[in-house]
Amino acid sequence: MTGFGALDLEGVQAEDNRLKTKGQGGFLDQFVPMPEVKPGQTGEVTVRILPPVKGGKLFQYNRIHQINGRKVHCPRPLVNGKWDRDTPCPICDYYNSLWRQADKAEDEGNRNLAEELKKEARSIKPIERYYYNAIVRSMVVDGKEQLNVGPRILSVGKILHQMIIRAIVSEKPQEKLGDITNIETGYDFIITKELRSDFPNYDRSKFSLQSSPLGDKDLIKHCVESMHDLTKFRSLKPIEELKKELAIHRGLIPDDAEKFNVDDFDAEYAGQRTTASASVPADVPAQTTETPTTESATAVETASTEAAPEVDDIAIESDEFLQDLAEFQQD
Ligand SMILES: [Zn+2]
Repeated sequence: MTGFGALDLEGVQAEDNRLKTKGQGGFLDQFVPMPEVKPGQTGEVTVRILPPVKGGKLFQYNRIHQINGRKVHCPRPLVNGKWDRDTPCPICDYYNSLWRQADKAEDEGNRNLAEELKKEARSIKPIERYYYNAIVRSMVVDGKEQLNVGPRILSVGKILHQMIIRAIVSEKPQEKLGDITNIETGYDFIITKELRSDFPNYDRSKFSLQSSPLGDKDLIKHCVESMHDLTKFRSLKPIEELKKELAIHRGLIPDDAEKFNVDDFDAEYAGQRTTASASVPADVPAQTTETPTTESATAVETASTEAAPEVDDIAIESDEFLQDLAEFQQD
């Protein structure tokens, strides 16, 4: 057999689509991009927050616990401006107990322990996020400036959310603009980002001084037809699952989401079986990971460098990392 085969155009097309959705595109393209700034710089993005969909709410709230490398949504709802303490959340309970333990340790003069407890508490702190539908007034897409891009999801932390809410309902007349989403008499929102001591700061954001219409009929029609379902940003798991995450975090049970068990693998080749309880996830705070000996710790290191995952997996992981950054860069 000599000669070339035929080019599978459909296959190539499918591959093109796959590549397009894997990289910066896809997931991140749904969001309003926050300006990238270096220390000393200021970045701006002007958005127009859209009215709610029929029967929907203006924004979706959520609180996220980062635990065991996963994001777990806190079941406590926002009721009358407060996170409802009567709704059980084992991770919040544990978080609060860590702070109480830290206070106690401090009172007893055990500063190191207090710091450790606070560090652990901060790692699982519930992080507030708020999601709105919005149009980006101007942004660069594929190297070209485009106007009125969206609807996109505006994902903000507490500071920007408060600014938006106050603009609508503040008791101070100088702060109150009314319905900033009104398609005829609403206001654009100029989000200003700076880095202060390496942390993003949005304090200088403000609504435009002049009201303006959302846009022409075509833009309004397009917005109405393409609004994002914001409720997808809050999905609650049963309490039992939250308890399980906490037990994994505490090192009490192995993380079964981690399909590759380093200890089992090592034991197989080292000719010695370790007990199941030895498979403690890597990110469990130091005080709970007393089980692995120095010997097995070295073995873990060797295994992770030698049995390196496929290159593609690393790329996907870093994409997820980018998404995490985009989600959390305001907190
Ligand atoms: Zn919680």
